[in-house]
Amino acid sequence: MLLTEQQEMIQMVAKRIAKEKIALSAKDVDEGGHLSWENVRIMGENGLFGVHVPEEYGGVGSDMVSHVAVVEEIAAVCASTSVTLSTQALTIAPFLIAGTEAQKRKYVTPLATGQVLGSFGITEPGAGSDVSSLKTTAVKSGDSYILNGHKVFITNAGESEIYVFVTRTSEERTRGISLFVVEKGTSGLTFGKKEDKMGIRGSVTREIFLENVVVPKENMIGEEGHGFKVLMNVFNETRPVVGAQATGIARGAYEYCLNYVKERKQFNRPLHQFQMVQAMLADMAMRIEASRLLVWKAASLIDQNSPNVIAQSSMAKCFASDTAMEVTTNAVQLLGGYGYIKDYPVERMMRDAKITQIYEGTNQIQRIIIANQLINQD
Ligand SMILES: Cc1cc2nc3c(=O)[nH]c(=O)nc-3n(C[C@H](O)[C@H](O)[C@H](O)COP(=O)(O)OP(=O)(O)OC[C@H]3O[C@@H](n4cnc5c(N)ncnc54)[C@H](O)[C@@H]3O)c2cc1C
Repeated sequence: MLLTEQQEMIQMVAKRIAKEKIALSAKDVDEGGHLSWENVRIMGENGLFGVHVPEEYGGVGSDMVSHVAVVEEIAAVCASTSVTLSTQALTIAPFLIAGTEAQKRKYVTPLATGQVLGSFGITEPGAGSDVSSLKTTAVKSGDSYILNGHKVFITNAGESEIYVFVTRTSEERTRGISLFVVEKGTSGLTFGKKEDKMGIRGSVTREIFLENVVVPKENMIGEEGHGFKVLMNVFNETRPVVGAQATGIARGAYEYCLNYVKERKQFNRPLHQFQMVQAMLADMAMRIEASRLLVWKAASLIDQNSPNVIAQSSMAKCFASDTAMEVTTNAVQLLGGYGYIKDYPVERMMRDAKITQIYEGTNQIQRIIIANQLINQD
């Protein structure tokens, strides 16, 4: 058995909620293109936002393996809803890694309990893969900092109460980067229109504008100029979470497809009796299993505070998201024309899968990270 009794119990809770509650609204959430606050409430009430967060900060006090197991279960039925889970973990991470005790109590607790949502603003119009070229500035003024800049593609922007921003406090490329927390309602913090997306349509994505946003110096997370290092550590922890999301999306599509090929007959035989179909099913199942193992290994290295987590996290994210794209595309293929129709969920799953190859570092960037780690290893 790969999971401990506690991890398995948490996974079972998520599986039950996914099946009995979240799955029922997945089609509407996608078609409506809005965040489901009902799903946020359900996940919050059941402690799913804070599975890996210590109990003193409102969490369940389990670990990252439990967290990725939860994300997979939710993503298997509704990828959009799983994005809220992964974005919450992304926002919590910098506080747990570098935050002060006061910051952890003030911000992590409401995030871990799902009382409020959080967003993490990294990407800018001119700074995507190359994060260190970001232009949003934070200028010291007495006991405060004044933030100015423009962030794009920010998940849950406008919906969240708590925002972490990656800013520039000096011209030095990576050593000039610092993180700040800003609360919704702060003067000068405004949001753009909701992006009209291909997939994860039930997850809201907006631009953010920061115009002379004044925050006290206590809102800096970690030390000035250390933001890039914190950010890289955050990604090491959150990329397996995207891997778990991708594994869930792939599994959802595979399970639907498996049932379908047992029922659907052509040439007087159910589809699953054709060897070419069997080979496709076997490949799907193999890749999903391998994805999960990579994700769980990365999560367990995070739990052990292992220095070897960098390549492993990128492998988990990259392999699982490539798998999600391949498996969902093949699921559509195996449903034939019906796979292309919105009445069947595999069409949504194929659209949802694509983003997992793009955000939290594209898969090209993951391959660069993996290669760098391999080449520079002792
Ligand atoms: C739905 C959605 C939600 C998102 N949520 C958030 C969020 O909550 N917070 C946030 O900060 N950001 C978020 N993002 C942004 C996301 O992380 C970026 O889009 C992503 O990192 C890629 O940046 P880019 O779009 O600028 O692409 P670019 O960096 O312009 O890349 C374009 C292409 O060039 C390739 N490329 C770039 N550099 C290299 C290289 N050195 N070698 C090889 N290939 C390269 C890339 O792999 C990609 O294929 C979100 C994006 C989307 C679409």
